[in-house]
Amino acid sequence: LVENSIDALSTEILIEIFDGGLSSIRIVDNGCGIEKKELKKALMPHATSKISSIKDLDNITSLGFRGEALASIASVSKIKISSKTKNDEIGAEISSHGGEIFPIIESGVKTGTEITVNNLFYNAPVRAKFLKSVKSEENEISAFVSRFILGNPNISFKYIVDGKLLLQSFGDGIESAFISVYGTDTLKNCFYIDTIKNGIKINGYIGKHYFTKPNRGHQTLFVNKRFVIDQTVSSSISNAYSPYLMKRQYPFYVLNLQMPTDFVDVNVHPNKTQIRFLNNQVVYGSIFSIISKVLDGSSEILNIVSDNILKQGNLKKNTNVLNNDYVKHNSFSNNINAFDNLTFSDVNKKEKENEDAFLENKAFLENLEKNKNFSYINTNKNANEPDIKQETFSLSQDYKVIGQALNTYLILESLGDLYFIDQHAAHERILYDKILESFEKQNFAVQPLLIPFILNVNSKESDFIISKTEFFSKIGVEIEEFGINTFKVSTLPSFISDINLNKFFNELLADVNVLKNITVIDVLKEEFAQKACKSAIKSGDELTQMEIDELLILLKENSNLKCPHGRPVVVKIQRTEIDKWFKRIV
Ligand code: ADP
Ligand code: MG
Repeated sequence: LVENSIDALSTEILIEIFDGGLSSIRIVDNGCGIEKKELKKALMPHATSKISSIKDLDNITSLGFRGEALASIASVSKIKISSKTKNDEIGAEISSHGGEIFPIIESGVKTGTEITVNNLFYNAPVRAKFLKSVKSEENEISAFVSRFILGNPNISFKYIVDGKLLLQSFGDGIESAFISVYGTDTLKNCFYIDTIKNGIKINGYIGKHYFTKPNRGHQTLFVNKRFVIDQTVSSSISNAYSPYLMKRQYPFYVLNLQMPTDFVDVNVHPNKTQIRFLNNQVVYGSIFSIISKVLDGSSEILNIVSDNILKQGNLKKNTNVLNNDYVKHNSFSNNINAFDNLTFSDVNKKEKENEDAFLENKAFLENLEKNKNFSYINTNKNANEPDIKQETFSLSQDYKVIGQALNTYLILESLGDLYFIDQHAAHERILYDKILESFEKQNFAVQPLLIPFILNVNSKESDFIISKTEFFSKIGVEIEEFGINTFKVSTLPSFISDINLNKFFNELLADVNVLKNITVIDVLKEEFAQKACKSAIKSGDELTQMEIDELLILLKENSNLKCPHGRPVVVKIQRTEIDKWFKRIV
């Protein structure tokens, strides 16, 4: 019913339920209304005003299109529809009890539609038995309403349960809608993304590295405004997060994807929460690439992410700047990742549009290049929950090395504040970036294995490996067939020559049954992170002045901010905070 109100272009929708909807559900909207002569038809099965020709089916922009909802609800409840279009002087009302339709009468309703559904399943006791408890039906409806709010930020919703206003949104944009559902605390723990890649527009909120959830219940996805559950998208996001996720933790997100209607088939499943993409790999690759960039914290992300606390003009303006910038520079992903080469037909046009925006922002980007910045975490009063205020700290600004503390942290003073640098995290990040860089530039030696590694797989996995042989060879992994469903690995790139190949291939093949083409980089990245971690200075290592200086020089050249495992590298303590300790200020 709410989808119908949205399709009717309503800007205000009231949803009221009693007893978990079992005794009554009422939806009032201010949409286009239903003409009196159409009222009866609206209750007929397969009557829809949203499809008028076969070719509309390939270009569905409405939420409904099958003409099923009203007829099926009417057959199992006592329903009343009052409606008025803006051209009508007076509205009309139709009722039906269990599908038996009563004559149309006049109604004093305002322009729009009001539908009341009473006594759901009163004539279908078997169906009624399948209902859950009042409370869990109510919870389910609340979850639906939350999704409607998140997915329709320009509509104001009111949701009343047993006479109590439970949720309200104001139709004034995505941030406000997000706050209506999750509150401002959650907002602070998220990055806001807004960008286009390969013709897919993606915007919304994703949890920061540490803001994860113990189940998948906090993942909301809309594709062309429709709430959907989609394996391709959810695994691309999960995989982008995987270096940062602890066991049994799941990413939090509310994301909208917008793409041409002919690239997505919505007519797959009766409840329409499942869709099919024309090209899974493009969708997978685009989303994975964007989310990874944001989480990896590389400076390019300033183009696609803005922090919710610092609504800096620059960051805001630069939302959406040429993300193809990194596609151009990242020759690795261009050459090797099949999915980066597949593009939607309109990608060129989109890139042209982006190019203009890019030139406009070139100065900003150049500035960014010059200041090798990295962000830090600003401590605040509530020490165990860092207020992740992304500001930039640059080693190109003046700083004084205070020294090493606890054999773990370097302390610097700069511009009147103190900075604590985790020596292990910093070094690890530097090494990780180095490995990644040489990998991406394919700037590495290939080492033959003393004893070739033999890999036994099933036929599905075998197909996958065969399809990837060329890719493997590019990254220095020489792999060839060695009998039925058996492979021989004879070389490895030097920087992962000590890799545990069993584990590597197990992880690589774990996803083969779900999706192809995706996990090699992921799995390698995790390997890189582990390698970096092993070779980095440990916490507890006492450093000489020379070693400290060396580390800082390396850090100066590096623009990243998080250790590859997602922990922060730098924490700032403001002078004002220290002054407060000694009551110099209050
Ligand atoms: P569908 O949404 O698939 O078209 P429904 O059974 O949900 O089918 O609705 C049948 C028809 O009733 C719709 O096509 C639309 O013309 C009309 N209708 C239903 N609800 C509303 C509403 N809130 N505002 C305007 N028209 C509506
Ligand atoms: Mg409908």
